[in-house]
Amino acid sequence: MKRRYLIAGNWKMNGTLASNAALLAGLAEGPGRCPDIDLLVCPAFVHLDAAARQKPAGLWLGAQNLADQPAAGAYTGEVLASMLVELGVSHVLVGHSERRALYGEDDARVARKVQIARAAGLVPVLCLGETLDQREAGQTEAVLARQLEAVIEAGGIASLEGTVLAYEPVWAIGTGRTASPEQAQAAHAFLRARVAGRSATIADRLRILYGGSMKADNAPQLLSQPDVDGGLIGGASLKAADFLAICQAAQSLS
Ligand code: PEP
Repeated sequence: MKRRYLIAGNWKMNGTLASNAALLAGLAEGPGRCPDIDLLVCPAFVHLDAAARQKPAGLWLGAQNLADQPAAGAYTGEVLASMLVELGVSHVLVGHSERRALYGEDDARVARKVQIARAAGLVPVLCLGETLDQREAGQTEAVLARQLEAVIEAGGIASLEGTVLAYEPVWAIGTGRTASPEQAQAAHAFLRARVAGRSATIADRLRILYGGSMKADNAPQLLSQPDVDGGLIGGASLKAADFLAICQAAQSLS
């Protein structure tokens, strides 16, 4: 099955209202130039409202995180899924490796967040990936299986219907060191096969993005792999021309 590419920008804790406005202005042509792919940007929470008002039609808006609570209450500093929906947010990153490593998010919390996002009508972009030590110890597949199974255990295989996966080897994030196309393909194929073991239909439709130092020059090769359905882009999403070049690579392959 031919899946529609999704190119997503994770702006992390970067930008100001002014610089984001300039970046969004630079992306204004994106949806028109790349009509056969989906484009998504994920600004910081406090910038979502302004981005929602300015973004061009056809550019999806995502948050970088959400609370692991399903309802409003005394959770200082947290952001409820429905608050994101109210702003016009459609997607949310869940379990990014920086959240897992720096903020102690374990598999169970990540799985809970996936269920909460879905219940609110948000598309979770579930991030998975191994560290360098884990790869060198031959544990890549075991780590990916563990991270994926936590979500399936929490919500059943149906919780992957419409959910997006992002395979992000931790050693490739922000390092300039990209997984080879073969390494990316092997990990994506492993994840898809794991899902196919439960539901061939969900596996076939599942979009699996690659993330980790994807740039305009390596995007065509990575995106040509049969199980790579897009990219989650950090650094290269902060410059409109760089991000659009990756979008264009996906459009050319569509
Ligand atoms: C990321 O943080 O999700 C990411 C892929 O970052 P970078 O593209 O900068 O490696």
